[in-house]
Amino acid sequence: MDKKSVLYIKNLNKTYSINSSKSPNNVHALKNLNLDVKQGEIFGLLGPNGAGKSTFINILSGITIKTSGKVTVWGFDLDVNPRQVRASIGIVPQEVNLDPFFSPRKLLELQAGMYGIKKKDRITDTVLKLVSLENEGDSYARSLSGGMKRRLLMAKALVHQPSILFLDEPTAGVDINLRKNLWDSVKLLNKLGVTVILTTHYLEEAEQMCDRIGILTKGSLVALDSTQNLLSRIKTKKVIFKIDSPINLKNYSLKSLKIIYNNKNEICVSYEKNALTMNELIEIFNKEKIKIIDISSDDGDLEDVFINITKN
Ligand code: ADP
Repeated sequence: MDKKSVLYIKNLNKTYSINSSKSPNNVHALKNLNLDVKQGEIFGLLGPNGAGKSTFINILSGITIKTSGKVTVWGFDLDVNPRQVRASIGIVPQEVNLDPFFSPRKLLELQAGMYGIKKKDRITDTVLKLVSLENEGDSYARSLSGGMKRRLLMAKALVHQPSILFLDEPTAGVDINLRKNLWDSVKLLNKLGVTVILTTHYLEEAEQMCDRIGILTKGSLVALDSTQNLLSRIKTKKVIFKIDSPINLKNYSLKSLKIIYNNKNEICVSYEKNALTMNELIEIFNKEKIKIIDISSDDGDLEDVFINITKN
């Protein structure tokens, strides 16, 4: 069964007019963006600085007004039913802006109040637990670590139980250990049924987290595919062989084979996956009666795809 579409974007455009007296200028930050995010996905919007990621999130959160195009969330049109759209989405901003003298519990209660949620309907403790801050509920926000503050921002975005969560660069400036911690929180939420849309320029984050990825450059989507399919676009494979004696591969003219280095006991080569197989390579070592002690290979990662797509 086809999954339901939760976010549907059709020909979305945003032009910022910059009226400087010297040079009046327009910035076309989003150009005819089309996107359809399905229920339960973790969708990643990737792109270099200035690609239009924040503009996109800001349009959904109501901070920025779109120039043209259609945005619907659960079938609610942003132009017609902005309240319903806002009720369905939670947005975790990029910048940490928390009142340092409030406790997480107090901040969440205030946020719930802003959404008009009655005291008896609030889920403050559940939300604190979801982001693993149950023990910090009554500490000052300023005493929380960087990672905790990020999780508190996530908690704030969850008080009205949105079915879609937007995370704008969730781990920008967060160290590696805490990053993992945040990813776990996001994955848990997704397991509970929340559709997640995140922007990032950490490719590892996208690779680890996202089911599907859109790559945005200069306001246009230049790729939109499953993470798996994007990764399979990488055509070259790099392999390192540890061997028991030196080999001279130059005598063999194998299609697309390149020798990156060739030491006494180690040789590193690259080849095009569609032109050559690992078996054909291993055959050569067998022919030369050279024993392979170890093989390690590098299939490339999203970074290779990204560089390839965005370099033009
Ligand atoms: P990203 O989040 O991917 O870095 P942005 O959405 O912030 O990209 O920016 C997209 C483009 O729009 C950039 O060229 C940026 O300079 C421009 N831009 C963003 N916000 C404004 C604004 N308020 N006024 C004018 N130009 C803006």
